[in-house]
Amino acid sequence: MKILIKADYILTMDENDTIIEDGAVLVEDGIIKAVGKGIQEDGAYVIDDRPAILMPGFINTHTHIAMVGFRGLADDRELMDWLQNYIWPAENRVVDEEFIELSVPLALAEMISSGTTTFNDMYFFPEITARITREAGMRGFISEGVIDFPTPSAKSPDEGLAIAESFIKNWKEDELIYPVMGLHAPYSCSRDLILRGYEMARRYGVPLHMHVSETRAEVQQIKKQYGTTPVRYLDSIGVLFDGFIAAHSVWLDGEEIDIFRERGVGVAHNTQSNMKLASGVAPVPDMLKRGVKVGLAPDGAASNNDLDMVDEMRSAALVHKVHRLDPTVMNAREVVRMATIGGAMVLGIDGIVGSVEVGKRADLITVSLSGFHMMPIYDPYSHLVYAAKGSDVQSVLVNGRILMEKRELKTLDPEKIAHNARILKERILSALK
Ligand SMILES: [Zn+2]
Repeated sequence: MKILIKADYILTMDENDTIIEDGAVLVEDGIIKAVGKGIQEDGAYVIDDRPAILMPGFINTHTHIAMVGFRGLADDRELMDWLQNYIWPAENRVVDEEFIELSVPLALAEMISSGTTTFNDMYFFPEITARITREAGMRGFISEGVIDFPTPSAKSPDEGLAIAESFIKNWKEDELIYPVMGLHAPYSCSRDLILRGYEMARRYGVPLHMHVSETRAEVQQIKKQYGTTPVRYLDSIGVLFDGFIAAHSVWLDGEEIDIFRERGVGVAHNTQSNMKLASGVAPVPDMLKRGVKVGLAPDGAASNNDLDMVDEMRSAALVHKVHRLDPTVMNAREVVRMATIGGAMVLGIDGIVGSVEVGKRADLITVSLSGFHMMPIYDPYSHLVYAAKGSDVQSVLVNGRILMEKRELKTLDPEKIAHNARILKERILSALK
């Protein structure tokens, strides 16, 4: 199938951040065949959302998508209070296969309708998440969250590792599902468990995804336990490599940033989650300056409370300015890069997606310029970061398949999703009684 997408601005996010005005992109068999001005193709299916921007889809580098069920359940609490007294007990009582079945389509619908085309998920029952994601047509990096205590899916870390291994084996060759080894955090996984998880990731050639240095309390705990900071500790046991995805990485010093660069570790920057849980502000401007790969991420919906990458871009652009008292510390173009090609680099898929270039897979979105808040337009990067809403996203393609067109979801059922959200709420409230 051939698809021709027309736009007023094509943000290619290529090496030179080339912008093409009044251009089009031709997609054939899932691949970008042509990008430029004056492209015509007889018989192609035309997507014309003009006035609109055409750009690569957003890449969410760290999330727990099924947590949309807990959206707004427990806000305004400290991370450890939030986790230990609300989220973990709620998870242990209600998260099962059916919970995942009910919540994942809601998360996918939310992500697609705000322009996300790839996400990196760590949660439980990955087989179900993978199956639903595959059917909905999104690109998903998915892992079982392995941790030292019993979880909804595994009675022990051994069982968690076994689930991870069979999941990796089952999905290793899939075109859209990328199995990942997920370890919760240095404070919640023993050294032995981290080493076993690392060994498995390397044996199967998959990424290793972990929360690292999210709070100051974590750094203090790791120092007490191992005599050094989380990044130095992980490096000392040899588990940092170019497939390591470090979520948060808020409390890093200059030397730790250099360790990340030398090992090729990618960082998932969770601006809003870090603000909401008051974890701190990650030194992202320094990471970028020193050449660390950085992508953006909304984290789980319980700590954000949405999965909207447009919203996340604006927060990322603003927080570093006010934190450094310097409005030049991060510009809109750099933020859009983090949300697209930067995220692709963190996940190791920048060779196939993350930019609008001939030969890449067609993971593309259009963003409407017709809203009053988008007029007039001088600079499309500025509008995307400082003015746009996730709901301005009009059409979404993943691997050349149309998942949303003119805001109509093509692979998911909105009525069923809304119905299931009500069932989720009932289940959660009755379990917490
Ligand atoms: Zn997280």
